[in-house]
Amino acid sequence: MAATRRSVQEYLDTLDDAAWGAASEVKPKFVSRSDPAAQWTGAMKGHALFAYATNYLIDLDHAVIVDVEASRAIRQAEVGAARTMIDRAQDRFGLYPERLAADSAYGSAEMLGWLVHERGIEPHIPVFDKSERRDGTFERAEFSYDRKRDLYTCPRGKELRQYRRRFASPRDGVDDEGFMRYRASKLDCDACALKPRCCPNGPARKILRSIHEGARDMARDIAATDAYVTSRRERKKVEVLFAHLKRILKLDRLRLRGPNGARDEFHLAAAAQNLRKLAKLIFFFIPVEIVDKVWPLVRTRWPRRHVGAVQDP
Ligand code: SF4
Repeated sequence: MAATRRSVQEYLDTLDDAAWGAASEVKPKFVSRSDPAAQWTGAMKGHALFAYATNYLIDLDHAVIVDVEASRAIRQAEVGAARTMIDRAQDRFGLYPERLAADSAYGSAEMLGWLVHERGIEPHIPVFDKSERRDGTFERAEFSYDRKRDLYTCPRGKELRQYRRRFASPRDGVDDEGFMRYRASKLDCDACALKPRCCPNGPARKILRSIHEGARDMARDIAATDAYVTSRRERKKVEVLFAHLKRILKLDRLRLRGPNGARDEFHLAAAAQNLRKLAKLIFFFIPVEIVDKVWPLVRTRWPRRHVGAVQDP
């Protein structure tokens, strides 16, 4: 009963946290009575279960875990956890990463805008894009944006603007969700032969542009570079760590309840993984003469089983 009260209290304490309660307003299908912060999820491709997610911030050069954050097992919470870890790594270690390599779950407009405009970090992240069309009509990518004049040009060469008249007090035209609307002229579209392929169901074509579109464009440009290919390859290092966590350390079930219980277990597991990595890396920094002297002593003193563990963590 005491454990239940603690986990419920922790759940209430984290309701406003970006990696927990504030991550999404969607009501979960089921809520655990003994551990309400755990997320009901079917993402494991088996039976749905209550779960927590662990998030790593790693140094891509050596695959050393720099920070760990527990969160709800939903995408929005994982993005919130990533922001927390980036800020914490800067505050505690003075680490200012030049680039962040991550999968498309981190490619939302808000996250890219935050990385580029607020933290000055290059996003080596696939852009989360829903503008793709499957009905054969023109996609947004076929409309070019002119930054200086703040307008789109359609395949027919016509302009799509936010406003076609001047206002006494200028308007930014941004809606509550952070989008601006660019519209073609109805006169242009009515007379256009491409209308059936452009806006068959509307009077004129309309394009939505996020206020973070500049950051999204930057991520798209980076995705076309060789550096991005390298980042995408290096990103697998974090997947290796997660696979190691589940298969070797067998952390597929938590013993402690509540966000703090999950946090403690994930931190201990990450510390164990870093120690194994350290055992691997340390021989790179010890002069060869010392290794030659110490190694025979280690071999005779420790049973072979332990020596093997040091050699091949
Ligand atoms: S329908 Fe309108 S927006 Fe589409 S190509 Fe023609 S003129 Fe341009």
